[in-house]
Amino acid sequence: MGTERTRRGQTRELDLAEAQALPLGAQQYLAALVRADPHNVSAIVPVPERDGHPAFAERVWIHVQLMQLVHDLNVPWLLALQGACTAHQTACATMHVGADAYLCPVHGDGRSCAALEYIQHALDAIAKQLASPEAFPPDAPIPHRSVRLFGAACKQIARVFLHIYNHHPALFAQCEASSALYARFRLLAERYALFPTDALPVEP
Ligand SMILES: [Zn+2]
Ligand SMILES: [Zn+2]
Repeated sequence: MGTERTRRGQTRELDLAEAQALPLGAQQYLAALVRADPHNVSAIVPVPERDGHPAFAERVWIHVQLMQLVHDLNVPWLLALQGACTAHQTACATMHVGADAYLCPVHGDGRSCAALEYIQHALDAIAKQLASPEAFPPDAPIPHRSVRLFGAACKQIARVFLHIYNHHPALFAQCEASSALYARFRLLAERYALFPTDALPVEP
């Protein structure tokens, strides 16, 4: 018990060496990889190996990668956006990427959400879909029909990054410098052909 708890009595987070030594679930393994170095995206994105074999099925790995991405967008990205996106009333009164405007996919009533609302609604919807036990049964392989949700999630995540990139470039640069989350997303989309990366700018 003692090794798993800090002096404050909270459960301690596993470090990477421990994660590699234990038969952990994909989610914990990925979280440990990200904590070890979020900037090392080429170590984070590929399916890890154990004894020379993939440690997880590719679908399982993509699934946990997308859940982790949506989670990691909260801080610093969405937190920073809360101040910046509302301040730009003209560009961000609706969801824009450049000149293109998008209707919120969550409401079927044609209601137009402001960009910040759109982003929150879209990410909440993705998180809910990825956590759905019907689409992703906890004790069974991921069914083929659920794989299309990966592409749909990437389309929305790409739109969030592109809005920030196009309309809040300073915020984008600042958040990316500290988190490398966009680089992780771009590599994930490219490696598993989840989203056409020619639509995604390469960050210097
Ligand atoms: Zn905005
Ligand atoms: Zn909405």
